[in-house]
Parts: sequence; structure tokens; C-alpha cells
Amino acid sequence: MKPVQIRDKTFVVSISSEKIQHRVREMAMEISGDYADKRPIFVCILNGAFIFAADLFRALSIECEISFLRLSSYSGTQSTGTITNLLGINANLKDRHVIILEDIVDTGETAVYLVEEMKKHSAASVRFASLLFKPKALKHTIRLDYVGFEVPNDFLVGYGLDYDGLGRNLPDIFVLDK
Ligand code: 5GP
Ligand code: MG
Repeated sequence: MKPVQIRDKTFVVSISSEKIQHRVREMAMEISGDYADKRPIFVCILNGAFIFAADLFRALSIECEISFLRLSSYSGTQSTGTITNLLGINANLKDRHVIILEDIVDTGETAVYLVEEMKKHSAASVRFASLLFKPKALKHTIRLDYVGFEVPNDFLVGYGLDYDGLGRNLPDIFVLDK
């Protein structure tokens, strides 16, 4: 597959859309098995997780709901380390089984923050599902309940992930060419 140019950078394919689709369906089957009769509510973290959430959600075979939460900790290709711009959750999570949907866990900062936030809403249970996980970048202790792919500590775009706002529409996941 051809490399893609986004602004000043070149990216090469890392995970093909076929692989992603296959893995997302597997994750959906596993979650459906774990949450049968629990009517979970998924919380999709915008913007990055919207594509993952849309594919996973459609592959679930159980009764379930979805809500959306927005925050941001990134500018360019480096984490700024501070979480800003939280757009409040508009669903009642009290006594609900919550599954947070993230595109990627990098330092784990966002994941820790999100789990704490969900607990404040008195959820019955909180689990964390991320399509991608960078184990070498992790700086926090966090339990990831569902992970699509473990990836090296390199900057990725595509399938919802952006570089400076661009690249989210790519069906494959690309990595910065070194
Ligand atoms: P963390 O708080 O775990 O350091 O970062 C989580 C967020 O950083 C993710 O939700 C994602 O938005 C962003 N992020 C982390 N790694 C990457 C990456 O390789 N590419 C892009 N586009 N965003 C990333
Ligand atoms: Mg994200």
C-alpha cells in the first residue's frame, strides 16, 4: 500500500483495514459475551474513538446504549500531558455498566482520568476498551479490559486518529515513516 503524505510528514501502513475490521469484530463478540443481559452503556471518547466506536457498536449482538464524551490532551504529535476541554456526559450513568471506548492508550493519563470521572457518576461497573495500546509509553497503573492491538511507541494516524486534524478518514492505520 502506498505511503500517505499529511502536511509535512510521510506515513506508511501499519495495520490494514482488514486486520482492524477482523479484530474489532472479535472484540465485539467478547464484549457481547461478557455483557449479555447487562444493558451496558458505552462512552465513546471523541474525537479519536468515533470510528472504532461506530464499527464496534454495530458488531455488538446485545442490548446496549452509547454516549459521547469529548476531551483533548494532544497537539501535533506529542502529548501535552494536560487534559482540557471536557464536554460533559449527557447520560445518567448511575448503577449502569459503563464501557469506555478509546482509540489509543499512550501514557495512560487520559484513561486514569476517565475511570475516575466515571466513578464519580456512581456507575455499577467501569471497564476500559481501547483499540490500540502503547505498552512502552505507559506511565500509570491502569487495567485495560479490552485491547485491540499492542503497538510500538510511534505516532499513528488513520481510523479516527489524526495528525493536526487530518488523516482520521483513512481506513487503515499508518505510522510515521522514520
Ligand atoms: P494518553 O493520555 O494515554 O497519553 O493519550 C491518550 C490520547 O492521546 C489518545 O486518546 C489519543 O487521542 C492521543 N494519542 C496517543 N497516541 C497517539 C498517536 O500515536 N497518534 C494520535 N493521532 N493520537 C495519539
Ligand atoms: Mg482519544
